[in-house]
Amino acid sequence: MRIEHVESFILHVPVTGNQIADSTHSISHWGVVGARITGEGGLMGYGFTGTHAHLPSDQLIARCIDTCLAPLLIGQQAQDTERLWLRLARHPALQWVGRAGITTLAHAAVDVALWDLKAKSQSMPLWQLLGGAVREQVRAYNTDIGWLSLSDEALLRGAQQAVDEGFTGIKIKVGSTVERDLQRLRAVRRAIGDQITLAIDGNGKWDLSETLRFCRAAEDCDVFWFEEPLWYDAVQAHAQLARATRIPLALGEQLYSVDAFAQFIGQQALAWLQPDVTRMAGLTDVLRVIELAAAHRLPVAPHAGDMSQVHQHLNFSRTACTALEYIPWIRACFEEPIEVVDGHYRRPEQPGASTTPTPQAWTRYRQPTS
Ligand code: MG
Repeated sequence: MRIEHVESFILHVPVTGNQIADSTHSISHWGVVGARITGEGGLMGYGFTGTHAHLPSDQLIARCIDTCLAPLLIGQQAQDTERLWLRLARHPALQWVGRAGITTLAHAAVDVALWDLKAKSQSMPLWQLLGGAVREQVRAYNTDIGWLSLSDEALLRGAQQAVDEGFTGIKIKVGSTVERDLQRLRAVRRAIGDQITLAIDGNGKWDLSETLRFCRAAEDCDVFWFEEPLWYDAVQAHAQLARATRIPLALGEQLYSVDAFAQFIGQQALAWLQPDVTRMAGLTDVLRVIELAAAHRLPVAPHAGDMSQVHQHLNFSRTACTALEYIPWIRACFEEPIEVVDGHYRRPEQPGASTTPTPQAWTRYRQPTS
């Protein structure tokens, strides 16, 4: 199917409670910055990256899609996802100005749109196109109850409510002070009992000595993983931490390349890999990370910059992907929103990558692309 048109779009969608914070970010909206690709015959594919809804930087991504990537795609065959990935990622002038950052986020949106178009053109959901389902249901873990901005009471109430709704896993944020976070972690563990997996996420705030102090005291809380305990790119420090604590380490939402994951794996710094199709250059590149993880017998829990609209297809079709994040902020924006029942994702059945926005979302949340 020949590609006839490529166009960017920006949606800004409010988060739960209109404001959330972790140790390093505080946001009121999630940015859905995407590409709509039209093939011959009028079929449309949608893909998007995830941002903090900062319009000036979102418009840079949109401009990259419209002026740098679109001309490389018009007239090409949409189903050639691997070849087109290389055409964009290895374009000499684009590679020169950015192998990470805005160019990669723009590429992510376009790559996912191509996969959406490909799946729609074959009238199958993406998981089926990727080889079929390896599991009947996907275990969800709830992140939306664990923000650092929540009071202690609200945190405990949310954790209990998630368990009551059937979630068997939750994640809470840390990275304020060691003492406060330990107290919150212990209170949550007491509230939910020992049958629920409890992960924590530091968002790269602490240094190694502070993190070691926290980990030593937290080891009796049965922490499922400690996500981004240190600065995102610090391979050696993560390796040092991994040797010093029994708590499994997880990371990946800020890594742009397969090589970055390979470095962490090579140093035995990670127990869980968390690639994201909105951070790397799309689904095509994340599939390579999943293969890498499988080769090292490491589990994958994709980070949900797409709020799992796309990643659910990976978790249904890839053995290595054993857990998936749940944050419901943008689910109402899509024709086939993610659906979690009793703590498990329902398998999407409509053709495509579950990325087609509703007309209402288009009207309500759309921002100018320039
Ligand atoms: Mg995280």
